[in-house]
Amino acid sequence: MQETYDLHCHSTASDGSLTPAEVVHRAKLQGVTSLALTDHDTINGQKEAAETALSNNINYIPGIELSTTWENKCFHIVGLNIDPTNKPLITGIENLQTLRSERAKKIALKLEKRRIPNAYESVVKAAKGGMITRSHFADFLLSQHYVSTKQEAFDRYLGKGKTAFVSTIWADLADAIDWINQSGGVAVVAHPLRYKLTASWLRRFLSSFKEMGGQGIEVVTGRSTPDEIRRTLQYANQNELLASIGSDFHTPDNKWVELGRLAPLPESIKPVWELF
Ligand code: AMP
Ligand code: MN
Ligand code: MN
Ligand code: MN
Repeated sequence: MQETYDLHCHSTASDGSLTPAEVVHRAKLQGVTSLALTDHDTINGQKEAAETALSNNINYIPGIELSTTWENKCFHIVGLNIDPTNKPLITGIENLQTLRSERAKKIALKLEKRRIPNAYESVVKAAKGGMITRSHFADFLLSQHYVSTKQEAFDRYLGKGKTAFVSTIWADLADAIDWINQSGGVAVVAHPLRYKLTASWLRRFLSSFKEMGGQGIEVVTGRSTPDEIRRTLQYANQNELLASIGSDFHTPDNKWVELGRLAPLPESIKPVWELF
């Protein structure tokens, strides 16, 4: 049987639109055989995802996407095959959740100054107890017709340096890697080409990541072009990182990104799941 891995996706526990069970059911329909749900800074969807995967004969890998800061820049680190009951990991996540909720209030205050009221109440309601992300603010701005696309919400208000952007110091990169490692997991750089870094910054980042105990990098993501896969493969090899693959699926509304719909990993590189 053909194996199909998808090791990066989101549910209603963070900024996805499907519940963890719905994500697993959809993955099954899409032919995914090994799945990791990797919500932003929370493990709340893990139990439901694992149980649904078990009854649907999908190999489930516990996961998370941690928000981290290195040299004042934000990087997303996916933790795969983590132990969701690990105490230091849970404490680290709880700190990130506090940061997220404080940031959400600050974003709402900035929007209020731009005569956009009620953002905080609306995103809290929309997140239904899940992590509040900028994606929720973008949905709010769209639904209230302050912008006409989600992209415009980031371009005008939420993106780095824009009027409602709140600079946040997330978990220290080294700490986040430690939490993942000592919970038995593997730390993976999420979507390495999405940080708008120069090649030399990206190289510096990756060598620090490796030095701190990081072991993997996403070589294939939902919208990777063949050229992007080639470039990322080089970065992986230069730093002796293993390859991961994940769609970063958030919602069926985005027709460009689907669970399991991914280019194959290049055969020359060792996949991260050899470490699980
Ligand atoms: P946060 O982690 O709260 O800063 O939110 C980041 C999330 O917002 C990402 O994980 C994406 O899901 C979403 N996002 C970031 N940039 C964009 C964009 N340009 N258009 C749509 N969604 C975006
Ligand atoms: Mn997201
Ligand atoms: Mn991300
Ligand atoms: Mn993601």
